[in-house]
Amino acid sequence: MILNAQLGCIIIMLIDNYGRPWLKLRIVVNSVCNYRCIFCHFEGQGKFLSRELSAEDIGFVASVAKELGVDDFKITGGEPLLRRDIVKVVDEINKVGPKDLSLTTNGYLLDVYAEELLNHGLRRLNISLHSLDRGKYRFITGVDALDKVLENIDYVGGLGFKQIKLNVVVLRGGLTRTRYQ
Ligand code: SF4
Repeated sequence: MILNAQLGCIIIMLIDNYGRPWLKLRIVVNSVCNYRCIFCHFEGQGKFLSRELSAEDIGFVASVAKELGVDDFKITGGEPLLRRDIVKVVDEINKVGPKDLSLTTNGYLLDVYAEELLNHGLRRLNISLHSLDRGKYRFITGVDALDKVLENIDYVGGLGFKQIKLNVVVLRGGLTRTRYQ
């Protein structure tokens, strides 16, 4: 709890163990994925399918977090774009008036959802792109989709997102040809 003497009011905020205000919230909206990355932990895969929060419930959690000082919401999964109501999820979070709202994705379904997500308040995208070599990409992700994802990245680049980041997992020792061919 923080007392703001200047404003003469009590502001309730989340504070971490180091005394820093908790301004960001990562929301896991599902636990399923259409990829099978070799480094993925698949935490909870399958076990919690029936326990996913509805879009409205996620919006409620976001509104409570906002009252506690959270201003930056990050949507993640699993693969968030596998949720058929992902646009509604973004819309519900956006309704609480966040300063920032981003989504992490493997990029496979961006051609289907990106424009609508942008129109409903998504500001930033984090797209996983683990290799520019088609064989390595397929080996790492279990899906032969490099060309499709590159096309989608090209497409979303022209839509007007505030920021698009590409994520890569650096693998110890890299990948030798014998490992992925
Ligand atoms: S895209 Fe992400 S969630 Fe899906 S398998 Fe790869 S690391 Fe796991």
